[in-house]
Amino acid sequence: MRTDLLHPELSGNKWYKLKYNLQAARTSGFSTLLSFGGAWSNHLHALAAAGRLFGFATIGVVRGDSETPLNPCLQDAVANGMRLVFVDRASYRRQQEPAFIDSLRRQYGHFYLIPEGGANLAGMQGCAEIPAGIRGAYDHIALACGTGTTLAGLVGSAWWLTEEWSVKALTPPRILGFQALKGRGYLSAEIQRLLRNSGMKGHCRWSVNEDYHFGGYARTKPELLAFIEAFERDTGIPLEPVYSGKVLYGLQDLIKRDFFPRNSRILFVHGGGLQGRRGFRGRND
Ligand SMILES: *Cc1c(COP(=O)(O)O)cnc(C)c1O
Repeated sequence: MRTDLLHPELSGNKWYKLKYNLQAARTSGFSTLLSFGGAWSNHLHALAAAGRLFGFATIGVVRGDSETPLNPCLQDAVANGMRLVFVDRASYRRQQEPAFIDSLRRQYGHFYLIPEGGANLAGMQGCAEIPAGIRGAYDHIALACGTGTTLAGLVGSAWWLTEEWSVKALTPPRILGFQALKGRGYLSAEIQRLLRNSGMKGHCRWSVNEDYHFGGYARTKPELLAFIEAFERDTGIPLEPVYSGKVLYGLQDLIKRDFFPRNSRILFVHGGGLQGRRGFRGRND
């Protein structure tokens, strides 16, 4: 499923995660949106575009030092009107602390806060709408996980209970998330927390695969890059090495190892994020 083709600037799961956040901000009378991300954040990139398209001022709190010139991701954000605020890693880690948020409000005024990666209930609710775009019936749905919000939204989606789905398939699909970051157990716990706090009922069986992070967030290995290149050549579908490349590498490996029962119907949800490829071209050329 190609959510990467949704919109040239607001692509992939980031639009789904922003949609109800923007709506909530508008309903509550906010004109400024503030969020957090790294220097290659797909989320801040999409937020800046959404701000321009829907008439919000945007502030991006970026982890780390400002570099001159700004990288292409942040250049786009600025071109879309985003104000960038660079904070050191220690401050960045405090992004959920009320005292830190208060200090941001004192400096930058009134804003609607969207957590890093759009990881809140509104973000999940938007992602719960992704299944409505699925054509055909599937036994497994594979996707990349950063914060786990997209996976949680899929699992909690009421779409699996609708007649439209049940005429296609008897049961909800199993959702398989591929963790893009290193670390054991934390992501499953986070997804459970998101589901619990949302009050959404989980309708699907789900699991997180922790084996294909290739060393951690935005880390790559030559075999991953070679796989991506071959996949793009064979299919014409663009991938990037942070999320989608790792999922498809993992999927083909698991298929080879007979992880999935014979004749399983597997859907990969392409989450977009292709703007981030520019960071790798620079690094690997
Ligand atoms: C942000 C992003 C993800 C991670 O989504 P979460 O909801 O944070 O798990 C996956 N794939 C792509 C391409 C992304 O940009």
